[in-house]
Amino acid sequence: MELNKCSRCGAFHTGSGDVCPKCMNKDNLELSTFKSYISVNGFSSVDMVATETGIAQKNVNRFLGYQTIDSLEISQKENFDETGVIFH
Ligand SMILES: [Zn+2]
Repeated sequence: MELNKCSRCGAFHTGSGDVCPKCMNKDNLELSTFKSYISVNGFSSVDMVATETGIAQKNVNRFLGYQTIDSLEISQKENFDETGVIFH
């Protein structure tokens, strides 16, 4: 069995996601907030998205890494990759 570290609270858990079962509801909620914000406003910067949505920057970074977001410009994505958070 593999232990994963929760990206939100740091607790170790055996779930398959990045977050522990305790944080999953809030994480899903923030992820949908994030997605709907991006679909309406597009992606500007991690700073801006975090401020506008109230989602912590480290979570915005994580959501960005989950999947390619259609409205994300290629150039912005490259910028993000260069300055991206190192995942442990
Ligand atoms: Zn957690």
